[in-house]
Amino acid sequence: MDMLPAISSAMLVVTHGCNLECRYCFVRQGAERMAPETAWEAVEFLSRNAGREGTVPSINFFGGEPLLMWDELIEPLVRRVRAGGRPFRFSVTTNGTLLTDERLDFMRRENFGLLLSMDGDRAVQDANRPFHGGRGSFDVLEPIVPKVLSRWPGVTLRMTAAPASCAGLFESIRWAEAMGFRSFFVMPNVFESWAPDAWAALERAVMDYAGLYAARRRRGGECIRFSALERMLGDLSPGGEERAASRRRAENKCGLGAGRFASIAPDGGIYACQELCSNEGSASPFYIGNLSGGVDDARRRALMELYSRERARSERGCGRCGCAKICDGGCAANNYLATGRLNRLPEVYCRWMRLLLRAAERVRRDMHE
Ligand code: SF4
Ligand code: SF4
Repeated sequence: MDMLPAISSAMLVVTHGCNLECRYCFVRQGAERMAPETAWEAVEFLSRNAGREGTVPSINFFGGEPLLMWDELIEPLVRRVRAGGRPFRFSVTTNGTLLTDERLDFMRRENFGLLLSMDGDRAVQDANRPFHGGRGSFDVLEPIVPKVLSRWPGVTLRMTAAPASCAGLFESIRWAEAMGFRSFFVMPNVFESWAPDAWAALERAVMDYAGLYAARRRRGGECIRFSALERMLGDLSPGGEERAASRRRAENKCGLGAGRFASIAPDGGIYACQELCSNEGSASPFYIGNLSGGVDDARRRALMELYSRERARSERGCGRCGCAKICDGGCAANNYLATGRLNRLPEVYCRWMRLLLRAAERVRRDMHE
């Protein structure tokens, strides 16, 4: 096999702690915090590798909630990198609650990318994403959202749908659009079981959104965009099956260590996917090395081989699934966490794919009526 690219882009998991207690959180929250020296080692490691590959290194600050480490780690690290004059890209994935004007201005000046995890309007956000102790987080975020949007007009809202609150998903999408978001991404929580009425509510929300999107576009207007639906529309267009087949291959999937992306845990451990940083430590098949010893390419290849050993399929078998030709194999990390196998998709994910397919078919039909 060809040489694997050196890791030059990392999710830097600066803490496993978080100020929220989201009902679907996959992080094993704990006191671990990355030491500033470890973060600096990560900068050196990524810079060295990027130099070899002729790319610009990058860090996405991730957690837990990374902004808990703003004063201790993020701001000083970025200042030190900039003072050294080396090219480096930064971004952050945050729940938004600790964003202040000063921090937003600093990040804007330093050309940060930003991904905001929030589930929508008051009812859904407070049900899904409370602080420890149960207080809702919407009131804290409401004044922050316009400040984010004024600096990052194209920021994507990253939502998770949960069975208990998904009846409010469509209203939350409308809320996001009214606030000024132009795009969102939503996934159902695949680790919970979905009762039939909860799933029916999720279907209604997605189909209502598809109807709204098609009606607006047909009239030549704009509508807040849902990236997964747009991708599904692309998969239904000429060349879509080949594109999906290509995304299914281990060398093109994220989270398997095939590319130049990896995640660095607070203790300097390097993992192929950020979702596995807090779960099993170095015993995980996603563990591929550490900052002191370097990356073990044999472990990266073993992970890819574990996924590729057989074609990805549903834990219940694929039957006559309408997505068979455009199935991308799901998220390998979620597959592993939910079913114990990298290439066995949890049933909830497969139902979600089929729902997106129906929504995309509705958009096509409605647009051409
Ligand atoms: S904000 Fe993220 S890390 Fe914090 S509890 Fe929610 S899902 Fe977990
Ligand atoms: S979405 Fe699930 S059931 Fe459908 S083809 Fe893919 S793995 Fe099989």
